[in-house]
Amino acid sequence: MRILITGGAGFIGSHLCERLINEGHEVICLDNFFTGRRENIFHLLDNHRFELIRHDVTEPILLEVDQIYNLACPASPVHYQYNPVKTVKTSVMGAINMLGMAKRVRARILQASTSEVYGDPLIHPQTEDYFGNVNCVGLRSCYDESKRVAETLMMDYHRQNGVDTRIVRIFNTYGPRMLENDGRVVSNFIVQALRGENLTIYGDGTQTRSFCYVDDLVEGIIRLMNTEAEDIHLPVNIGNPGEFTMNELAQEVAKTVGTNIKITHLPLPQDDPKQRQPNISRAKELLGWLPTIPLAKGLQKTVAYFAKRIEKVENR
Ligand code: NAD
Ligand code: UDP
Repeated sequence: MRILITGGAGFIGSHLCERLINEGHEVICLDNFFTGRRENIFHLLDNHRFELIRHDVTEPILLEVDQIYNLACPASPVHYQYNPVKTVKTSVMGAINMLGMAKRVRARILQASTSEVYGDPLIHPQTEDYFGNVNCVGLRSCYDESKRVAETLMMDYHRQNGVDTRIVRIFNTYGPRMLENDGRVVSNFIVQALRGENLTIYGDGTQTRSFCYVDDLVEGIIRLMNTEAEDIHLPVNIGNPGEFTMNELAQEVAKTVGTNIKITHLPLPQDDPKQRQPNISRAKELLGWLPTIPLAKGLQKTVAYFAKRIEKVENR
């Protein structure tokens, strides 16, 4: 198949490009390089089945493809709050442009949504039928609300125009190729521990997240894209239900890096969700999918990546 991946030079997108190329598909990677980088896909550039297009999803484009993975959007709070209006445009206009293309060329399209659509959730763990508890006027709203609109657009293009859509609600995912200045907690803690700096815990560190290793996530979204079922157009959670407080995560990182760590507490950001854990029954049932890589193992791989990366960056 010919497959378009928007945001393909980013963290998750680059793993997806690699995986689909290895499966024998033609892959078009489209990216504006806001948080993505050429290095993530450098090893694919010589492959005759790989094509790179510098383009912004807020602008229309027409490509003849069979499938579209719409991943373009900054995912770290630091980056999506840098230019919040642009974040909304990326999610909303990006979804409209990609859905328009999918409709025209009859491609199947998968939207990368997020556990953030549940906001600061009042039910735990989160099931897909939970409508969420989202502030529509806060600092996180540019991301949360525009992803909710992207989901709405997917469902309306499906119901109104018969577009073959999929929605994945991705829970916190980590692994190699996150940016060292990404700002998300796993990369922050690992980079800080490797540099011998204090780990920055926001608030008292009792808030929880559930961390999924990137290979497990990629497997889940490829299965979702390629599964047919009556209610397959409705959202599916993909994440690892292993739930940790940020204090526990700091200790796990310390164990993996093998250093004694010191902690600096910083203020908790506005609207920071107190708890988050996916209920993955739907993914299990529809896709036969389960995560296979526990946090300790995923952290080992991620620490190994950052150790090399930091050495390279510091020797430049
Ligand atoms: P990332 O920031 O590494 O990747 C996003 C990619 O999109 C980057 O390559 C960036 O340059 C590109 N991009 C941003 N705006 C664009 C635009 N207007 N036009 C074209 N390209 C643009 O983030 P990621 O972690 O790889 O996330 C990928 C997707 O998964 C995002 O849609 C994100 O919302 C979603 N997601 C990720 C997580 C996670 O934990 N990693 C969790 C929930 C949802
Ligand atoms: N966090 C932290 N220290 C950091 C970065 C983040 O304690 O250096 C906390 C943050 O407040 C949140 C959790 O870690 O409670 C996860 O943050 P991240 O930005 O990784 O993801 P999100 O909040 O979008 O789930």
